[in-house]
Amino acid sequence: MVGDSEALKRLESYDMDDLVIATLCSHTSLQIFDGARKEGFKTLGISIGPPSKYYDAFPNARPDEFLVVDNHVDILSKADELCAKNAILIPHGSFVEYLGPDNFENLTVPTFGNRKVLKWESSRIKEREWLEGAGIKMPRLFTKPEEIDRPVVVKFDGAKGGRGFFIVKDYEEFNKVGPTQRYTIQEYVLGTRYYLHYFFSPLKEEGYRLSNGSLELLSIDRRDETNIDEMYKLGSQEELKKLDLYPSFVVTGNVPLTIRESLLAEVFNMGEKVVEKSFDLFGGIIGPFCLETIVNDKLEFKVFEVSARIVAGTNPFISGSPYSDFIEPNLSTGRRIAQEINIACELDRLDEILS
Ligand code: ATP
Repeated sequence: MVGDSEALKRLESYDMDDLVIATLCSHTSLQIFDGARKEGFKTLGISIGPPSKYYDAFPNARPDEFLVVDNHVDILSKADELCAKNAILIPHGSFVEYLGPDNFENLTVPTFGNRKVLKWESSRIKEREWLEGAGIKMPRLFTKPEEIDRPVVVKFDGAKGGRGFFIVKDYEEFNKVGPTQRYTIQEYVLGTRYYLHYFFSPLKEEGYRLSNGSLELLSIDRRDETNIDEMYKLGSQEELKKLDLYPSFVVTGNVPLTIRESLLAEVFNMGEKVVEKSFDLFGGIIGPFCLETIVNDKLEFKVFEVSARIVAGTNPFISGSPYSDFIEPNLSTGRRIAQEINIACELDRLDEILS
């Protein structure tokens, strides 16, 4: 049991034969609705304003029903309505980001996963405590700009999707940019990026076992980031700076990837450590999470971020991935979430995967 929250108590009035999978219309919602339907659930899309017409274009992924609200915070006042419909909420990046982690924690609707994780992933300080405490290697942190002795990435607090980051090579360059907001300075890790999509099940008793439950690797992607990913076509960054053109890291899409097979042992080792540490810190992460990593030419990983819920990088894998195919065909992360809810219902252990 991940907690005896108010939301969880509301399960007592639920009709377990008529559960509805609900999420905010955005981010990974198509995948979540499609996966839920494949697992036999009804679906509900929470839409800010009138539902976008693109849902009509994808009949299998269109929710059975929409709940329309004016803005994100209004979702809080819809808790009774959602519970009356037997809704289970699936958090995703935009849902948590736009509602805000604090509001999300107070939403009294049964929600997939352990909400306590939100506090740990939304603060760069707590995130580092979790990952480094788990024995994961992260990019070096520079507490004083004067100490910059190599290329670094300066991340503003509250920056979303890599917007507002900048790269500098030394202290002099840092001063020229002169950031005015609160920031974190991280070593710029040179290497190739892999965004590893895991799923931790506290219910499954076969596969890659942990001290409790089992860990899966469902897929891997790399983000397409504008304009850094295409900038080289215009010339060197040094040349471009003279024209006032600086790199940005704004995510626009996702590319499917596989990793050298020999690196999979370390991929699982890292996922295992992150889950095991989460048991000690906040009672355990549940369901999908992503480690955002860079591999250098010595084949060493550094993890620069953990996202503790379904990430948009899983979207290319609606019909499965080269990894989920080894578990079962057509297994997207959205479907795996619905499957976990089904397994929990069968075992009468729903309270162990919801909060
Ligand atoms: P999101 O919340 O969407 O994950 P964010 O605003 O927290 O985004 P990050 O994921 O930390 O931002 O970083 C955005 C991008 O910046 C990364 O995808 C990666 O390309 C680059 N990046 C971040 N940290 C580093 C680093 N230490 N070294 C090299 N590149 C980095």
